[in-house]
Amino acid sequence: MTKIPSTYSELRKNLDSGSISCVDTVNNYLSKIKEREGLNVFITLFEKEAIEDAKRIDEKIKNGTAGELAGMVISVKDVISVKDALLTCGSKILSNFNAVYDATVIKRLKDADAILIGKVNCDEFAMGSSNENSFFGVTKNPIDETRVPGGSSGASAVSVAADMCMVSLGSETGGSIRQPAAFCGITGLKASYGRISRFGLVAFASSFDSIGVFAKENENIARVLKVIAGKDEQDSTSTDESVPDYNEEIKEKLDPKKIKIGFAKEYFGEGLNEEIKQTILSKLEHLKKRGFEVVEVELPYSKYAIQTYYILTCAEASSNLSRYDGVRYGMRSEKSEVMEDMYVNTRSEGFGAEVKRRIMLGTYVLSSGYYDAYYRKGQKVRNLIKKDFEKAFEKVDFIISPTTPTTAFKIGAKVDDPLAMYLNDIYTVSVNLAGNCALSVPIGKDIEGMPFGVQVMGRKFDEAGLMKMAELISE
Ligand code: GLN
Repeated sequence: MTKIPSTYSELRKNLDSGSISCVDTVNNYLSKIKEREGLNVFITLFEKEAIEDAKRIDEKIKNGTAGELAGMVISVKDVISVKDALLTCGSKILSNFNAVYDATVIKRLKDADAILIGKVNCDEFAMGSSNENSFFGVTKNPIDETRVPGGSSGASAVSVAADMCMVSLGSETGGSIRQPAAFCGITGLKASYGRISRFGLVAFASSFDSIGVFAKENENIARVLKVIAGKDEQDSTSTDESVPDYNEEIKEKLDPKKIKIGFAKEYFGEGLNEEIKQTILSKLEHLKKRGFEVVEVELPYSKYAIQTYYILTCAEASSNLSRYDGVRYGMRSEKSEVMEDMYVNTRSEGFGAEVKRRIMLGTYVLSSGYYDAYYRKGQKVRNLIKKDFEKAFEKVDFIISPTTPTTAFKIGAKVDDPLAMYLNDIYTVSVNLAGNCALSVPIGKDIEGMPFGVQVMGRKFDEAGLMKMAELISE
């Protein structure tokens, strides 16, 4: 079978010269998908459609009209709308729901002649850190199948790590791209809030949600980001900040004389695996030797990030998820005689335990007696966390930390302990509270051979800088 190059520029050269076709490319990925079906990655596979697209795009390549991502094969987390395909969000309640329009990111990818290979599994409504909360079953870590791939975009990470596609689209509310990227040994970028349109992304917590990109190569992330980023009239929170040509930008190396790297001791405390800690500290030493200035910054409110994140996201989720009532979307319980029972039964049967827990928590923190004590206070702390970052980024250009406190854990190890599960997000959620951008890039493996990542956090809309930093770290 033809070997598919790992970078898009290499692939595109081969496609343009005719030594590989898009049909070969798709077939190659399809055979990988079949080989590792046991990982439980895809909810919907676009087998026929992908081959048809490939044929059509092969023609366009021949006559010189192909778009900038022609033949790039991409998988999509099943919380992003692809017209006429199932949009399940990993939930029973939407298990029969077909999307009626394309998300803006999907439209832009299709217009650029990328090929969508299918919709991939995730934690129900993107709530989780292990992919164990899906109605469609757990997705397994390709490096060790007894372990989780992370979550909630776990299957997106697996689809890239196991070479089932070149790039995957995921989404983040609190770490759902960076954490699975770290657990699966690939790169995952969460763009700044507003950088990528959320139109067609099913809402979990709207003031946090953002779409992002997984790939093995930085270049592939840069190319996709260029296509999907930018203002969209359909999403009033999308920014009109200009979109650079990220792929050109990342060719330029960071100048040690101009760049200051931040280090926050809050991110290296108790609970952090020693191997992860030492690897990242020695990377910082190495960067210092290369002439980069490493500066200590303070992020004192980070210690409240987990609590604040769960209060605010549950509040937003309880409101967003009220639309699933058996009337407008998806499944309807067959059991009920009167309307109110129908609502109750549909929601009781349709949502899984974690989603119910969050709806209840969210309803509680928004209820009239507790609103000030929890929700309003949460908003205030969110502001303080944002200010922490603003202050830190006056002093430094990037902040480096671990992505996760541990490597991928065993399937089942944390399902009965929600707090232990939530603590997975300890290093990732602050950025989502602040709205900045961040990525995770692989940096090492533990003694059991499980990969881990380093997190790079950046100023708002400095995704190009993040990718340059990722290049530097992987050198
Ligand atoms: N693990 C976090 C949660 O459960 C993050 C989820 C996400 O980013 N979608 O909320």
